[in-house]
Amino acid sequence: MSIVVQKYGGSSVADVTRIRQVAERVMRTKGAGYDVVVVVSAMGDTTDDLLALAKQVSANPERRELDMLLTAGERISMALLSMAIRELGGDAISFTGSQSGIITNDRHVDARIIEVRPFRVQDELARGKIVVIAGYQGVSYRREVTTLGRGGSDTTAVAMSAALGAEYCEICSDVDGVYTADPRVVPAARRVGTLSYEETQELAEAGAKVLNAQAVEFAKDKGIVIYARATTSPLPGADPSADGTVVRRYPPRMPGTVVGVASERDILLLESSAPTADVLSFLDTHNVAGKQLHASRDALSLVVSRENLHEEARVRAGLADRFGTRVRVVADCGALSVVGAGINASFENIRRGTAALDHAGIPPRQVATSSFRITWMVDQARLEDAVRLMHETFLERAAPPVP
Ligand code: ADP
Ligand code: ASP
Ligand code: MG
Repeated sequence: MSIVVQKYGGSSVADVTRIRQVAERVMRTKGAGYDVVVVVSAMGDTTDDLLALAKQVSANPERRELDMLLTAGERISMALLSMAIRELGGDAISFTGSQSGIITNDRHVDARIIEVRPFRVQDELARGKIVVIAGYQGVSYRREVTTLGRGGSDTTAVAMSAALGAEYCEICSDVDGVYTADPRVVPAARRVGTLSYEETQELAEAGAKVLNAQAVEFAKDKGIVIYARATTSPLPGADPSADGTVVRRYPPRMPGTVVGVASERDILLLESSAPTADVLSFLDTHNVAGKQLHASRDALSLVVSRENLHEEARVRAGLADRFGTRVRVVADCGALSVVGAGINASFENIRRGTAALDHAGIPPRQVATSSFRITWMVDQARLEDAVRLMHETFLERAAPPVP
């Protein structure tokens, strides 16, 4: 029998009514003849609430203890969903990440999956059960409980799909697919029916929350087909791109086609004139990950995402202590990205975007490119205006429709 993995995000299991609705959707999938594995996130804002609780106790909560705390969120929803499925006459069993065989490295708070040993999941599927798994968590080879970084339930679902040889992995959320921009910010955003792994990965890394970047990387490596869909949508039909987004290997689009705009608000921009090797070594010692690195021996610019940085106070104090004014931390910037294959074949797009930002009184502080992306660092207070402006510039004005 074919296996389907479905992941339901926090808003989809935010209360008991929604958990029942998810249970019904799971039962329909089982009824369609599939073996079903369900991955759940913590209910609603539970993870944020737990983090806030930790911050009340400690300004710099220890990473190991945070993982012990945060994993509790997904444990609640897995048990409740399993009970709800049983109420509907289904036979379900719930497992934590550790019980499902999600083995990670030992980097607490943003651990990476190194192996999946899904024996218990397979045994229960063979008994005809629906298996419900707590997302976002695993266990290190040292038997420590770990979490996979914010949004990590998507990664659990994709990794489990790969380990089980699932037919597809459905990521169910409050939005019916991946849009050309966050539909909450850009009313004119459109759903994109089909996306390549590379396009999706760039959008996710640039801040499009709907799919987690590490999950897409995993899917690309293992060739897992992802269907991003709304929890309220029907089960995928003959053409799942008609009412959702299909992410898989696709032939490249016409070079220069912009597929979307994404942004990241919660970032720090590090600018340093201290010896680069010393600053990077300091950041590694404190497990601070960075991106968009530009460096020479004595000058460094780096973007640090704050979403998995829970000891910011300690890190900033340490930087000031060690490097003084040679390291500056800029906290009022946001990153705005335009994504599409081949968009930097010439400098036309970068010139067009920068001119539009200048004209709107949002002069970018920096701009960086990769083969799939242009990223401008702009005033955080104007970030959403800038997202709308880039969407208008690249996707509304005389832009060819994205298929
Ligand atoms: P879940 O809890 O289901 O994992 P998330 O909150 O992580 O859901 O992601 C869904 C949200 O992502 C949507 O509500 C939407 O506002 C936001 N989002 C940001 N960028 C995009 C995009 N390009 N397409 C669709 N949704 C996006
Ligand atoms: N509950 C975790 C978070 O809020 C993981 C997830 O939702 O994917 O980040
Ligand atoms: Mg998510």
